Amino acid sequence: GDKRLEELNVADTTCGYCAVGCRFDLYSDGEEILAARPTDEEDAPVNGISTCVKGKFGYDFINSDDRLTTPLVRDANGEFREATWDEALSRVVEGLGSIKDEHGGEALSMIASSKATNEDNYLMGKFARQVLETNSIDNCNRLCHSSTVAGLAQTYGYGAASISTEDLELADCILLTGSNTTEAHPVLATRIKQNVRDGADLVVFDPREVQIAEYATQYSRVKPGYDAVWINGITRYIIENDLYDEEFVANRTTGFEDVREAVQEFTPERVEEVTGVPHEEIVSAAETIAEADSCVFGWTLGLTEHSHGTENVIAMGNLAAITGNLGKPGAGVSPFRGQNNVQGGGGDMGPLPDNFPGYQDIADDEIRAKFEDAWDCEISPEYGYYTTQMFLAADDDDVRGMYIVGENAAVSEPGVNHAEEVLENLDFLVVQDLFVNETAQYADVVLPACSFVEKTGTFTNTDRTVQMVKQVMEPKGDSRPDWKILQDLANRMGRDWNYDSTAEIMEEVNSLTPLYGGVTHERVEAEGGLQWPCWDEDHPGTERLYEEEFNTDDGKANLQGIGYSEPAETPDDEYPFTLTTGRVLYQYHTGTMTHREEGIMQYMPSDFIEIHPDTAANYGIEGGDMVTVESRRGEIVVPAQVTDRVGPENVFVPIHFAESAVNQLTDEEHLDPAAATPEFKVSAVNISPYEGE
Ligand code: SF4
Repeated sequence: GDKRLEELNVADTTCGYCAVGCRFDLYSDGEEILAARPTDEEDAPVNGISTCVKGKFGYDFINSDDRLTTPLVRDANGEFREATWDEALSRVVEGLGSIKDEHGGEALSMIASSKATNEDNYLMGKFARQVLETNSIDNCNRLCHSSTVAGLAQTYGYGAASISTEDLELADCILLTGSNTTEAHPVLATRIKQNVRDGADLVVFDPREVQIAEYATQYSRVKPGYDAVWINGITRYIIENDLYDEEFVANRTTGFEDVREAVQEFTPERVEEVTGVPHEEIVSAAETIAEADSCVFGWTLGLTEHSHGTENVIAMGNLAAITGNLGKPGAGVSPFRGQNNVQGGGGDMGPLPDNFPGYQDIADDEIRAKFEDAWDCEISPEYGYYTTQMFLAADDDDVRGMYIVGENAAVSEPGVNHAEEVLENLDFLVVQDLFVNETAQYADVVLPACSFVEKTGTFTNTDRTVQMVKQVMEPKGDSRPDWKILQDLANRMGRDWNYDSTAEIMEEVNSLTPLYGGVTHERVEAEGGLQWPCWDEDHPGTERLYEEEFNTDDGKANLQGIGYSEPAETPDDEYPFTLTTGRVLYQYHTGTMTHREEGIMQYMPSDFIEIHPDTAANYGIEGGDMVTVESRRGEIVVPAQVTDRVGPENVFVPIHFAESAVNQLTDEEHLDPAAATPEFKVSAVNISPYEGE
C-alpha cells in the first residue's frame, strides 16, 4: 500500500500457521494485513529474524470473498441463510439442549481447535464439562501426536518436547525420523541445517528421501510401519557394545534390564530383513549417536500415525535415555508439533476426554473435586470419546450431536467417507469456523469465528513456550472470537460467565493448572515468552525438562522393553503398495487457509501421487498422467509425480485437498491402543492409469 508503516496498526504477535511459533510484527491498515516484519530478536526466541512463506505472505484468507462474516442457519428447504447472532445461538441452545435433555450430556461431543488460543481452548473444555455435561471433547492431536504424548508421558512424565529450539543448534548430533522438516517446520529446518554446516551430524531415517536428507551425514530408507524395529536395533547395538551411558542409566532410569532383554532379537541382520535398512547403516547410526556428546531425537507424524505409534515413541524414549541424552544442552527429545497451538490448545488446556488442563487426570477424585468446585458442576469420572471414537460411536447413536470448532473433520478424519456419513446423520451439528468448509456443509448452524490477527490471547509452541497473540484488526463483519461465542452460549444455557478479557481467562487457568501456575499475560508479555512448567509467579519457566529429575513417581525415566507390532494392513497381491500421507511446504493441512492464497496456489494447485520410476515404468505411467489410487475403503484420482524420493514399494499423497481427499483411502478402524491414533502412514493400495475422461 502507499500508506507509511508508522500510520498503521502494528502488533508483535505469533504466527498462526505452524507450531514452530515464529514471532514477528504484523502491520495492518485495519482492513488487511500489509506486512510481516521481523520483530526485535530478543522477543523472537524461536525464529530470530526468519519466517517462512506462510508467516510472511499467508494472509489473503482473512479477507477472502468466502470468509464467513455472519452466522448461518438452515432454512426450511435445507439451504443456509444468514441469521443474527441471537437467532443462531438460540438454535444452538435448542439443538444441543434438546439432545442433552433427552439422552443426557454423554450423547454430545465436541471437537476443539488447535488453531485457537489457549484461552479459547480452556473455555471449550470447561463448556463441554460444565455446560454440555460431557467428557467427550477432543481435538486434532488425536490424529497426530497423541501417541507421542502417551509414549513420552509413560516414560518421562511429560508428553512434550524436552528441549528448547536452541538445542537444535547446540546438538552434536540430530536423529530425525518421519519428519519432512523442511516443508512442515521450515524455520526449524533452517536451524538444523545451520548446525550441520557447523559440523553436527544429521542422521535421517524415513521412507521418503525428504529434502532435509540432502544435508544428512546418513540417510536410511525404511519400510513404513516398522520404526520400533530399527530403533530397537540401534539400542541393541549400543547396549551390546557397551556404548551406553552407564552413569545416566544407573542414576536416572529404571527398567534398563527389561530393555536389554527386549532388544536382543534386533540384530543388525534381523533389522535389515524386516525394515530393508542395510545392517551397516544400523551400525553406523548407532555409533554416530553413541559417540556424540549430545543428541536431539526429533520426529513428527511418520513415527506416530500408526496403529502402534505409542510403541515407537517408547522405543525412541529408551534410546534417548540409555545414551544419556536428556536434561542437558543440545540433547533431548523433540516431537515437532504441527498446528500452531496444538501443544497448548490441543493438550495443555485439556480439551481432552481424559484430562483436565495441565494433564490432570479426570479419573483422579481429588483433581476432579477441584474442578467440580471451581466450575460449580458435577463431572463424571468416566473418560469420554476420543475424536476417532466419536465417529464410530455415532453409528450406535451413542453420539447424536456435535459442536466442531475450527476442525475440518470431513477432510481430515481417517476413512473420511464414513466420517461424512456420520456428520450427515447427526441430530444436530454446529460448526464454528472462518469458512463454510467441507465439514460445515453438514451443519445445522454455522458460527463465524475470527482468525489470530483479530484476537488476543496466547499460543504455546512446540518447545512449550507460551507466547502472546495480539489483535491487529477488528473482527471481520459479525465474526467473533471463540471465547466470546462460548461465553454467550454458556450464559444462554444457564451459566454465569463474565470474563472481560482473555487475560482473565488465563488467571483462572493459572489457579487450576500447576504447570501454568505463573504463566500470566503480564509476564508472557514482559518476558517475551515463558516455557512451562512455570509453577508460580516467581518461577522462571523451564528451558529444558528433566535436568534434575523426571516427572514420574520415582523421579526416574521408566524404561520399558518393547518389541514391535506389524502395521494393521500390509501389502498383498491385490493392494501391493504402501501409501503414506503428509504435508508440503506451500500448503497447510486441509487447505482452509492456504487454498485462499493466490501466490501459494500457483506453486501447488492440487494433490499428486509420488511414484518411483521403476513402478511408473511397470504400469506405463508418466509424470503428469492421472492415476487411480485404490484401497479397501475408497479410491481417488490424482496426477503422477515420478520420483525416486519414494521407494519402489511405496507411494505418497499429500493431505491438502478435499477434491482428492486422500483420507478416503485411510483406515479409521485400527487405532493405537494407548492413544487411539489412526494409521495414516500405512495403507495398502493399488494404482492404475486413470481410464476416465
Ligand atoms: Fe509460521 Fe511455522 Fe512458517 Fe514460522 S515456520 S512462519 S511459525 S508457518
